[in-house]
Amino acid sequence: MPINFDISERLKKLAPYLFVEIDKAKRQAKAEGRDIIDLGIGDPDLPTPEFIIEALNKAAADPANHHYALDAGLPKLRQAIAKWYLKRFNVSLDPEKEIYALIGSKEGIAHLPLAVINPKDRVLVPDPCYPPYRTGTIFADGKVIPMPLLSKNNFLPDLKKYARKKAKLMFINYPNNPTSAVATKEFLQGVVNFALEKGIIIASDAAYSEIYFDIEAPTSILEIEGAKEIAVEFHSLSKTFNMTGWRIGWVCGNEKIICALAKLKTNIDSGIFQAIQLAGIAALESDGNHAKEMRQIYEERRDLLINGLRSLGWKIPLTTATFYVWAKIPKGFKDSMEVTQVFLKKADIIVTPGVGFGKSGEGFVRMALTVSKERINEAVMRLKKVF
Ligand SMILES: *Cc1c(COP(=O)(O)O)cnc(C)c1O
Repeated sequence: MPINFDISERLKKLAPYLFVEIDKAKRQAKAEGRDIIDLGIGDPDLPTPEFIIEALNKAAADPANHHYALDAGLPKLRQAIAKWYLKRFNVSLDPEKEIYALIGSKEGIAHLPLAVINPKDRVLVPDPCYPPYRTGTIFADGKVIPMPLLSKNNFLPDLKKYARKKAKLMFINYPNNPTSAVATKEFLQGVVNFALEKGIIIASDAAYSEIYFDIEAPTSILEIEGAKEIAVEFHSLSKTFNMTGWRIGWVCGNEKIICALAKLKTNIDSGIFQAIQLAGIAALESDGNHAKEMRQIYEERRDLLINGLRSLGWKIPLTTATFYVWAKIPKGFKDSMEVTQVFLKKADIIVTPGVGFGKSGEGFVRMALTVSKERINEAVMRLKKVF
């Protein structure tokens, strides 16, 4: 007899994952043999650089790397991360206490609330946002307090609205997925002051810090004085080095917060495959040429897509960071879900409805620059024919 059971109450609390629905529609369209242009996924289309693959191959062949890894990450990896942070942000970190390796930053982000909050504790979460901030909070029985990211505020939350919310934890993410906004140093300074005054833990997600155009390199929150007293930053090789499938990231900053997450994680996982860690060191110690080339590629794609959409009457400011275009939907569409459905039905193009990232994402769709220039041109041509 098939087992009859109910999924946990905790799982039931999650809103149905909208992306699952879109995925279904996409698979169906592909099964019908249609030529789909997928601007929906936040996953680089280009391969991991060759030198990193070579480092993995070499390390994978060495039996010394086949065992359980050290949970915190190899000391050599943590030293490489510390050196990278110093060079990139002029932030010094103690590799022993202020850096901890993660099986991709998503893992650490989703686990953090379990390590630092109690049931009913309040967590300030951007809306729209990368979903694990919200789901991680729900798994820990926390209460999500959404912080709307609005275009009139340059997609930065209006901190004074949360002064009396008695939150324990706040997530921020700049450069931002999905809005592509970049935080000013003044804003980050405001976040640190706010958190120090109210005693709030700050979790900053900096996964896109290396993807920026026509602007100065984005700031780490750890550059702000006092940040290390209340903040950790999540980082990852996924977007910087096209390594999303490899699962390697880290958390750095406040020692006590890291210690709490470490205590949780030693009870759940057993670290990152050591060969991947050694390949990660090769990535971190490389000369930065890869990132430069990557920025060039995304910039060209961005120009093509934005100019194409503008010629169709969409009003879109030039994206200055991340590989997303956060496009306000033009008049004539009911909502972001309708745009998504019409694009798929009439042009075989997949985009992500803004509402999938939270209520305040309504009115926008997210398009990822993770397809070639040829495909972006093709997408624009198809849209010109339809609209
Ligand atoms: C892609 C992404 C990450 C990186 O996730 P990994 O688990 O390190 O691959 C983190 N935060 C945001 C906002 C992202 O879009």
